[in-house]
Amino acid sequence: MNRPYNFSAGPAAIPEEVLQQAAAEMLDWNGSGMGVMEMSHRGKEFLSIYERAEADLRTLLAVPPEFRILFMQGGGLAENAIVPMNLSRAGVVDFVVTGSWSQKSQKEARKYASEVHIAASAEDSGFTTLPDPAGWSLSRGASYLHLCSNETIHGIEFHTLPDLRALGSDAPLVIDFSSHVASRPVDWSRVGLAFGGAQKNLGPAGLTLVIVREDLLGHALPICPSAFDYRVVAENQSMFNTPPTWGIYIAGLTFQWILRQREGTLTGVAALEARNRAKAELLYRTIDESQLYYNKVATDCRSRMNIPFFLRDERRNDAFLAGARERGLLQLKGHKSVGGMRASLYNAMPMAGVEALVAYMREFETQHA
Ligand SMILES: *Cc1c(COP(=O)(O)O)cnc(C)c1O
Repeated sequence: MNRPYNFSAGPAAIPEEVLQQAAAEMLDWNGSGMGVMEMSHRGKEFLSIYERAEADLRTLLAVPPEFRILFMQGGGLAENAIVPMNLSRAGVVDFVVTGSWSQKSQKEARKYASEVHIAASAEDSGFTTLPDPAGWSLSRGASYLHLCSNETIHGIEFHTLPDLRALGSDAPLVIDFSSHVASRPVDWSRVGLAFGGAQKNLGPAGLTLVIVREDLLGHALPICPSAFDYRVVAENQSMFNTPPTWGIYIAGLTFQWILRQREGTLTGVAALEARNRAKAELLYRTIDESQLYYNKVATDCRSRMNIPFFLRDERRNDAFLAGARERGLLQLKGHKSVGGMRASLYNAMPMAGVEALVAYMREFETQHA
């Protein structure tokens, strides 16, 4: 079967090998006589799936031992409340606003923190640049600083995380890495907590990953639901309540797939990073060299995962999308708040998919010159 290339921003394409293995194991996992969705989360079969998934994730993201890995539910948006409920101590929290997602996060945090301080915002640029960390106005004694390390809608990525200590702040850094988790390594020395929904780069919707430094546990506000109290979740190995077992299983297969990836001498996430860099470069080069397409984001912070682009003649948008669909290039329509097109090039998108897209873009441009 020749599957089309799926450029969805999320839920997004899953590696075909993962889907095939899940399909083969759907009725009977590993001779157990049960499918994974039908197993007790406390049985030895599921526990082995869970433990391997956690260990593989720790390996592939090089998560240091002082960090806990939590498999939760509620998605990225629930974390916008769960993070301040656990970390704000009802004090001041700092935000860097660089697009729709960090904008949403700071709004939600206002319900729980005594003050939300916007340390920097790129709104004046129409969210096409990243504010230079040297100019951020950091609060003294902030409980944490939140940023979205890849803005999925505006296509902006922090290619290096800020070093808050060097900027004179003791606040832990919280990152929403939903849409670029496992596409590149993470510098954990700069991070206190990272969260992300699984549905972009790791598996199906319904699973939310939280990686949190141990010293940040145990400070939840009294109103925090027990199921969302990071310490409770950590103490119960993510099984205080029934975890999203299917999501953990598919994410686990995806972790194994990531660990198998090779690119020259590179392996795992490093191999994917090299591939993601090459994929994004090809698409940005095609956009920049053309007379028809353009991208608005400053070159130093363009996302490797989510690439919005526009046609100089917007009346041709529908024709562009229809032609793309005919060629097996799916879900290229841009987010409604931004318009135009968006190609999401997550880990599961092979270079061949990007080559097919740029071949079509060139063909379309020639036809409409
Ligand atoms: C997709 C996405 C989310 C998702 O939130 P859900 O609650 O899972 O819909 C959050 N943050 C970012 C940056 C995202 O790309």
